[in-house]
Amino acid sequence: MAKTKIGILGAGYAGLLALKVLQSKAKDVEITLIDRNSYHNEATDYHEVAAGSVNADKITYPISDVVKPGITNFIQATVTKIDKAAKTVEIEGHEPMTFDYLIVALGFRSETFGINGATEFALPMDDVESSEAVYKHFIAKLEDYRTSKNPDNLKVLIAGAGFTGMELIGAMAENKAKYAKIAGVTPDDIELTCIDAAPSLLPMFPSDLADYAVKRLAKRGAKVYTSRGINEVKDGVVVAQNMETKEIIEFPAGTIIWTTGVSGSDVIANSGIEARRNRVMVTSQLKDPENDKVYIIGDVAAVMDAESGRPYPTTAQIALVMGHVAAMNIIADMNGQEGEDFKYVSQGTVCSLGNTDAIGVLGNGTKVKGYVASALKKIIMNKSLWETGGVKEMLAKGRFDLYH
Ligand code: NAD
Repeated sequence: MAKTKIGILGAGYAGLLALKVLQSKAKDVEITLIDRNSYHNEATDYHEVAAGSVNADKITYPISDVVKPGITNFIQATVTKIDKAAKTVEIEGHEPMTFDYLIVALGFRSETFGINGATEFALPMDDVESSEAVYKHFIAKLEDYRTSKNPDNLKVLIAGAGFTGMELIGAMAENKAKYAKIAGVTPDDIELTCIDAAPSLLPMFPSDLADYAVKRLAKRGAKVYTSRGINEVKDGVVVAQNMETKEIIEFPAGTIIWTTGVSGSDVIANSGIEARRNRVMVTSQLKDPENDKVYIIGDVAAVMDAESGRPYPTTAQIALVMGHVAAMNIIADMNGQEGEDFKYVSQGTVCSLGNTDAIGVLGNGTKVKGYVASALKKIIMNKSLWETGGVKEMLAKGRFDLYH
């Protein structure tokens, strides 16, 4: 009997978790996993690489460590298009792949919302390479300061104070002494600023926790401003409007980092699949509404949360659960059984503010901050490493220095 062909596009949290479940539970399957990189990366930790807190290898591990030979064939290549009707996937430099079932888990990219100059003059932080590029750019500016004495070289402007912007400024604030040494200045000379259009920060947290975050960052010399809507980015300058006074303000900075939000992979648009910001509204079983053999999960999917009446956010924790549900639903379908609906019960949400500080809310609503929240974040990170990479990767790349 011919084996069932399952294609998995993307080896992020969602794709790898689905692969692990299928490899251990599905019978008579032939899996093809495709990713443009040879490694899986922990997308929740890009800010640490951009800030220079850890090297890229701390947040990556080889995909081959997870692939079971004989069941799964891994192709390192770029997916360009999905043809759902023909049941094929176009891959750069390879013959098109055919499938019986497909899991689309191609992840996110930085979104500029068409703001003038953002692509040209601001640095995205949406994969390992771009995160490394942010750090290299800033270090080059600091080194240049020694001779040029250009004060803008010491300034970093982070555009967007969502999770990514706040975690990044927290990590950078912790490294001010290291940056200052490179430029030959004092830590107080390093200017870190994060601006956001919204009137209040981190709406998923109670306002007292968001206030705590801003105060803790201010104590470390990092400024966060709300109600500053960015209209334009010029070479070395971010132009924003004070949303209350309508005043136009210019923020000069040698390093401008773009963290105003994300969209799903462009492969969705390139494949003519209906979506909003490349996120496809999938069924409760995570299927494409037009093709029940195609599962769309992770940051390219939007699934309604019946309780809030809004789609679930795009987080690593949710992507992991989606990976599990999609794999189990494929196995159920192969056995002629009904699949399960996707449900997510949050165990907690944490936003780090450096290595030993954070804010968080547990699943039961308990608020946490400081060391406790930071330790919780590391436990969540270790759990996701264990779920995708197993014990080996968790021990090699996990965070066990809970209080340092
Ligand atoms: P986001 O959408 O959460 O935040 C973007 C921020 O940029 C918003 O606060 C928005 O008001 C602001 N913004 C947008 N346009 C702007 C403009 N023109 N001028 C000024 N400000 C502007 O995006 P993100 O932080 O990149 O996060 C992406 C996703 O990843 C989210 O779903 C987030 O929950 C998730 N994430 C989670 C964690 C975590 O759980 N610790 C960490 C990182 C990211």
